[in-house]
Amino acid sequence: ARAQAMQVDHSPNVVYEDIGGLDEQIREVREAVEEPLINAEQFREVGIDPPSGVLLHGPPGTGKTMLAKAVANETDATFIKMAGSELVRKFIGEGARLVRDLFELASEREPAIIFIDEIDAIAAKRTESKTSGDAEVQRTMMQLLSEMDGFEDRGEIRIIAATNRFDMLDRAILRPGRFDRLIEVAKPDAEGRERILEIHTKDLNLAEELDLAAIAAETEDFSGAELASLTTEAGMFAIRDGRTEVRMADFEDAREKVTEEEGSETGPIAFY
Ligand code: ATP
Repeated sequence: ARAQAMQVDHSPNVVYEDIGGLDEQIREVREAVEEPLINAEQFREVGIDPPSGVLLHGPPGTGKTMLAKAVANETDATFIKMAGSELVRKFIGEGARLVRDLFELASEREPAIIFIDEIDAIAAKRTESKTSGDAEVQRTMMQLLSEMDGFEDRGEIRIIAATNRFDMLDRAILRPGRFDRLIEVAKPDAEGRERILEIHTKDLNLAEELDLAAIAAETEDFSGAELASLTTEAGMFAIRDGRTEVRMADFEDAREKVTEEEGSETGPIAFY
């Protein structure tokens, strides 16, 4: 079960340049996670404690997992991911033990970044969720808190958690010494969307007419993940049409398709 519940990856292949529109968030993550790992000695000499845990919060598909992976890559750390929702759904009765295993594995593989996705599944306010009243979920959360409280002597392990439901979180996990650095990862603005489109079309055979700024302007409310699938879909439309070059019209068709799939209210809009 341990192997299934945790995804382990040494220096995952995401770099900061792969992440669009999150320059400020990258700066904050580097300061909170990367610096203390790389300059542990300096932090000790100055006499300040680095942030214990970093919480990334914001809508789905905005790059939270990418940020955590990029830090692990940059620091040459082992990336160990666990999904809160899986702990609750798939590993009933094993949550607390798996959390203990998670920290044990991290200390065997340090430097390590522990990434807990969907932390709200194990750390929701009791009133907000049916499952959090569950004694088992409570035990899992208590185990996480006790692991974090005993964190100081844990050496080169950093913990990053992510949630789409910040409002639902039990405030106990935000206390000093726990997840005491909050970083908001919002949906990208037009400039961020253009940058994300640049990243995802890097290897695409784009027609001369292609205007990424125009596409960015017409994809309001798209997350990074939606822009990534928009790009893939646009390529698919070109292929269906027997072309090797991707045109504006392909992005329009793709936008309609992605918007429909997301069940969004926004109707099709032409890019130009
Ligand atoms: P969730 O909350 O659903 O777990 P997330 O915020 O962790 O989502 P990621 O898993 O990091 O999102 O992103 C999913 C995919 O979307 C990435 O692999 C990437 O292709 C694309 N993506 C998302 N955000 C960005 C971004 N800011 N820049 C470039 N690509 C992005």
